[in-house]
Parts: sequence; structure tokens; C-alpha cells
Amino acid sequence: MGSNPVPATIFSFSVIYNRAYMQIYKILNQGSFSKDDIATLLSIHNDADRNTLYKKAYQIKKQFVGNIAYFRGLIEFSNICAKNCLYCGIRSGNTKLKKYEMTTKEILDAMDFAWKNRYGSVVLQSGEISTPKFVDKVDTILQKIMDTTNGEIGITLSCGEQTKETYKRWFESGARRYLLRIETSNKNLYYKIHPKDEYHCFENRVNALKNLKEIGYQTGSGIMVGLPFQTIDNIADDILFLKNIDIDMVGLGPYIEHSETPLYKEKNSLIPRIERFNLALKTIAILRILMKDINLASATALQAIDPEGREKALLAGANIIMPNITPTKYRDDYLLYEDKPCTGEDAVLCKGCLEARIAKYGEIIGYGEWGDSKHFDKRKNSDK
Ligand code: SAH
Ligand code: SF4
Repeated sequence: MGSNPVPATIFSFSVIYNRAYMQIYKILNQGSFSKDDIATLLSIHNDADRNTLYKKAYQIKKQFVGNIAYFRGLIEFSNICAKNCLYCGIRSGNTKLKKYEMTTKEILDAMDFAWKNRYGSVVLQSGEISTPKFVDKVDTILQKIMDTTNGEIGITLSCGEQTKETYKRWFESGARRYLLRIETSNKNLYYKIHPKDEYHCFENRVNALKNLKEIGYQTGSGIMVGLPFQTIDNIADDILFLKNIDIDMVGLGPYIEHSETPLYKEKNSLIPRIERFNLALKTIAILRILMKDINLASATALQAIDPEGREKALLAGANIIMPNITPTKYRDDYLLYEDKPCTGEDAVLCKGCLEARIAKYGEIIGYGEWGDSKHFDKRKNSDK
């Protein structure tokens, strides 16, 4: 007699909890992860274990790329898209959308803002158009940016799938990085979120990534997490896919429904937004641990769920932030998803509030530097 017995339920809970913690601790201290290990990490559902994962990722980030957040001024220069992805608010089938294409001068002015404010790089993003007129326009803009800034500003493009010749031409005119999310590496799921036709071909997307790498781009890809029909196993495969293609940069974020899209009808089957947010952060953390020296972007979609979502991602392993510098008058028409943040804020305001939040999280902003992917540098040097 004497000491109070621990109630059986509490006792068994703490045994199970400790067992789960030990398993996570063991995985995090391994040199590599199996698909099952990744699935276990993605399935973490309590704050303490999630924080253990984020802490490990942050420690690796600090060691391999430093606690520096690089800015990429995001210019969403056109919402005109020939494609019809079932999840995207600017798909060609959304007839309620007001179409716009920024003029060359507007794009150069936005770039100038980024340059004067010592953002190391800009990202030029748009819907997917492959007409000669569009290809020429992007080419001219690239040349003008190179001329104006003497190549001081790094240029990333994110204009979808293009021919290898177009990618080459844009590279020769000064683009050095390209972002093309695979969205999901599972072919079945790919065709549940894209129309099944020749314009939305999974193999073409994989091939485009291969072409970008061959040409010499720092190549970025990524996924959406929390998609309808998506399983933890799918995301574990996505992580391994990104590792196997030896990607230089990753941009990933939570899927957020848009009422003017066909995928909206699946909204009741989605996991809650906060879980999509946590899943995105866990995916970022796992990628940081696995791919150590890549550039990992903290997606704007994180901020649509949590106002400080992008900064929280920096503590889970991300090292790139993309402040939106698209002129305010166009922002409401580049609604890839609903509740997109900061659509009313101009670039100056956006910069001010971001800087304060980043400082609060103890990160340094890498002003005036391109902030290239260290993974890419290493890959290039080992090719020599
Ligand atoms: N047209 C180009 C680039 C613009 S779209 C392309 O598709 O590659 C940029 C990214 O926005 C897409 O890769 C997709 O991952 C993301 N996106 C689109 N709709 C979204 C949604 N509903 N929720 C979250 N992200 C979305
Ligand atoms: Fe167009 Fe890109 Fe949206 Fe697909 S995701 S509809 S390609 S803008």
C-alpha cells in the first residue's frame, strides 16, 4: 500500500505516447528515411512531436544554409492561362475572371522596386501561354531586366510547361531558375485534379522538369498538400520523387479550395485547413532534413490559413519568402485560391509587415544577394 496507483488509462496513454516519441526520435536520428519513416513523420499529430521534427529541420537548415531568409519579389504578370487545372482559380474555364496581362513597363517598374529595395531576386509568374507573342514578350523582359540591373538581380520564371527551345531561349536571355510544381507525383491523383487530355499530360510535366535541368536552370518543383483524394502515402512518395529527381528548389503549400473550380465539389472530403497547414509544415521539415542544402520556399498559401504561416515555415526549414510585388490593381484577379492574403496591400506595406514578422522569428533577411540554391552549386561543381 502507500503510493497512489496510476490509473490504467493514463498509464497506457503515457506508454503509447512514449513509444511514439521514441519512434520519432529514432527516425530523426537516422541517416536516411524509408517511405514508412516519412509516413510516420507525416502522421505526427501532437504539438510536442511536431516541434521535435521542426527543431531538427531548423538545426539542419542553420547548419547547411544558415538562418537567412532570401526574398524573391513575386510579379504575377498575367492571369491568362490556356490550361484548365481543376483546382486553380485562374483556369481558362473560369469565365468570371477578369483577364489581365501587365505591360512591359509595369513589369519593369515592379522589378525596379525589388532591385531598389535590395531584394536579391524576382519571380515572374503567369498562367501558361505558349504563343510566339508571349514567348517573345518574356524574352524581351528578361533582356531588359539584365540590361537595367547589369545582371544584379536573379530571375526565376514560373510560366508553366514550354518547349525545350523556349526554355533555352529564356535561359540565354538571363533566366536562371525555373519553378514548375509537379503538383502530385502520383499519376492517378494527377488525373483526378487535371482534365485527362493532351494539355494536361503527367509525362510532359516530368519531361519539362528534365529539360529544365538539362539546360542548366536551378530547377524547382513542389506539390500541394491536403488535396482531395490525397493520402499520406502519396505525400511520402512525392517527397521521395523530389529527392530522386535531385531537385534544387522546392515550393509547396496547402491546397485551398476555390468556388469557381470543378474540384470545389470535393470540399466536404477535405481535411480541415489547420491540418493542411500542419501537413505542409511537416512536409517542408522532412524535405529540409532529407535534402539539407536546397532552397525551400515558404508558400503564400500558408499565410491564407495562418497570418504568420510563412514565418512559422521558416522555423520548420524553409529559407525563401516571396513577397508579392504585383501592382495592387491586379491582385484580386490572380486568385489561384480563395482567401489569398495581402491582395489589398501594396509592395511597400507588404515589405514593412514582412520584415517585422521575420525579425520577430529571429531570422535574418538576405538583402542584396541572389541566394542561389547551395544544392545547385554543389551539383554543378560535381559535374565539372
Ligand atoms: N501556371 C504556372 C504557374 C502559376 S500557378 C504553373 O501552373 O506552373 C502556380 C501554382 O499555384 C501551381 O503550381 C499550384 O501548385 C498553385 N495553385 C493553384 N491553385 C491552387 C489552389 N487552389 N490551392 C493552392 N495552390 C494552388
Ligand atoms: Fe494555369 Fe497554372 Fe492555374 Fe494550371 S495551375 S490553370 S497552368 S495558372
